[in-house]
Amino acid sequence: MLGVTLDDTQGQLIDEIIVGKHPRTGLNLGPFASQSLRENKVIGLEFGILIKSKNGQNLPVDYSAAPIRDDNDLVQGSVIAFRDVSKRLKAEQELRNSEERFRMAFNNAPVGMALVTLEGKFIQVNDAMCKLLDIPEHQLLETHDTDLTFPSDTVMEQQMLMKLLTGESVSVQYEKRYGSKATDITWVLTSASLLTQNDEPFCYLYQVHNLTERKQIELRLNYLAHHDTLTKLFNRSKFIEDMEFQLLAAKRNSEIIALIFIDLDNFKQVNDTLGHDIGDKLLIMVAEELEKSIRETDLIARLGGDEFVILLPNIKNETDVMQVANKIWGNLSQPLIIDENKLQVGCSMGVSFYPEDGLDVQTLLRCADSALYQAKNEGRNNLQYYRPELTERLGKKIKLEHELRMALINNEFELYYQPIISNKSQFNLGAEALIRWNHPTLGLVPPIDFIPLAEETGIIVPIGEWVIQQGCKQAAKWQRFDKEPVEISINVSPKQFKTSDICKIVADSLADSGLKPSLLTLEVTEELFLNDTDHNLKIIAKLKQMGVKIAIDDFGIGYSSLSYIKLFNPDKLKIDRSFIKDILDNSESSIIVNAIIAMASSLKIQVVSEGVETLEVSNLLKSKNCDSEQGYYYSKPVSSQNFDVWLSNYHANTN
Ligand code: C2E
Ligand code: CA
Ligand code: CA
Repeated sequence: MLGVTLDDTQGQLIDEIIVGKHPRTGLNLGPFASQSLRENKVIGLEFGILIKSKNGQNLPVDYSAAPIRDDNDLVQGSVIAFRDVSKRLKAEQELRNSEERFRMAFNNAPVGMALVTLEGKFIQVNDAMCKLLDIPEHQLLETHDTDLTFPSDTVMEQQMLMKLLTGESVSVQYEKRYGSKATDITWVLTSASLLTQNDEPFCYLYQVHNLTERKQIELRLNYLAHHDTLTKLFNRSKFIEDMEFQLLAAKRNSEIIALIFIDLDNFKQVNDTLGHDIGDKLLIMVAEELEKSIRETDLIARLGGDEFVILLPNIKNETDVMQVANKIWGNLSQPLIIDENKLQVGCSMGVSFYPEDGLDVQTLLRCADSALYQAKNEGRNNLQYYRPELTERLGKKIKLEHELRMALINNEFELYYQPIISNKSQFNLGAEALIRWNHPTLGLVPPIDFIPLAEETGIIVPIGEWVIQQGCKQAAKWQRFDKEPVEISINVSPKQFKTSDICKIVADSLADSGLKPSLLTLEVTEELFLNDTDHNLKIIAKLKQMGVKIAIDDFGIGYSSLSYIKLFNPDKLKIDRSFIKDILDNSESSIIVNAIIAMASSLKIQVVSEGVETLEVSNLLKSKNCDSEQGYYYSKPVSSQNFDVWLSNYHANTN
């Protein structure tokens, strides 16, 4: 220990060999080694002292000394023991360092740290923990963690901590909330582990991460994923998710569920005429009215556009549905005031029932949708229950739609022509082009069976384009080969004005065929006045500028406002055949025809009567000064070959 040999020490004074120093102050202790000799008693020093070895190193030792006495109790010398304690001191120092490090880590950790008794009382907390809970340390140390925890999270937390006590896990992680009110909540992720003392569970160590911000974003995203941003109602995906649950419950308890599809009547008109802003506000207000009409346990969602859906769980029968429906109609019967507009909306509803109409979400939605489709057909504020025939019809519709697309590709359409005879000049002949469909299995399909669907789906646009091209081509032939040219009349649907460049299509067809524009009449309906009036007016004006004539078809049954007629300034009015049909025995029809002819002649508009079936009717119209006639009396619509035959007969007879 001292780095000396026996020879070095023999005969030396011990205090010259062993110099003691105070361990902390480093001051020499003086002749301490001979102390026991001097004082004649046992000396033991608890604390280590430093002794200096020969090579100058300081060595920490425990030291004790005792006098050696002879039989007469006379002091003969002293035995001195030194124990090297450098290892022990080093270990003690390391422990102190590590504790210090832990305390620093604990105190300065960026996450909340807490030691908590097994009963949940805080023993030690760091700054971050105090900040996270916004409670000063001294107050926190008098509190139980459970008192601060959101009530409904305490059971879960106890279960997690139990895993530590049973030894199932060495550490557990869980998300929990601090706070007592839902509006003032701190979301945290707690990692807890158990600290032991003498192998006994002693306390928990919590590491607590603040999740509030992330949770808020998560909640927001979750909200967005499940709600319609405009009306704040559930969206389709959330509705379907919840409906699955409701169906399971209904199955378990043998309950009936009703599904109501709701579609606003004439919402499109509001949107088109007053703009999307008003449309959006209307949807928001309607959503509020709908929500007011149902119970808390009912589900409601917006599926998109002006379509809403309501699920009524556990109902008894149709009466329950009618109650809700009547409440909805009642709530919507008050006009809604939006930006100084007083809007009155109605709605149509389609209803399907679980389990009667279907067992799964998709089937029930489909059934309610098809019932709604039926309700819309019946008019405003109508409700229909699902009937299986409806699906069948819908299926047929979808099939027909597909077939129509194929028909265009496979060239299955054909134009028939029906003569229009002028009462003013025998030579002023016309023909209306009327489409026919040569269906591969059904045979010749009349337009009434497919034009409405073609208009609904928009296929009318390419079909109509084909009709214009084909009609012009045919008329151009008559223009070349016959003594007198035949004017062609072609029906166009409002959709063609809306979604295609009809002016360009007409101009191209005229150019391609070489037909004189003045030989072409486009027949439009009064529907054109109702929507996008300005847009349609511009197109009509452009067509007229090209030299094309415009006829208003089915005149008299529609909206027939004189102001519109003046605006559109058509070349011809075609009186609907419903008036012509009973002109002989219905005085009202006769009066209407008289009025139309009088009005048209004052506006210098030509009048064509449709549906002339007999000589008597023809004579009567002539007497009323009607300009032209069209009808079975002259000819049914026929193929182009047969029309050529009719033409030569006609010319032969009149010549
Ligand atoms: P519309 O434009 O009013 O055509 C006249 C319809 O009355 C034709 O029926 C014609 O066959 C029928 N008709 C003519 N004379 C008489 C008669 O004396 N008595 C009776 N009872 N009926 C007569 P069709 O060809 O079945 O056409 C029906 C409707 O389909 C047309 O009514 C028109 O709205 C539409 N349509 C026909 N072809 C086209 C087309 O190419 N494009 C468009 N968009 N619609 C078309
Ligand atoms: Ca027509
Ligand atoms: Ca007509």
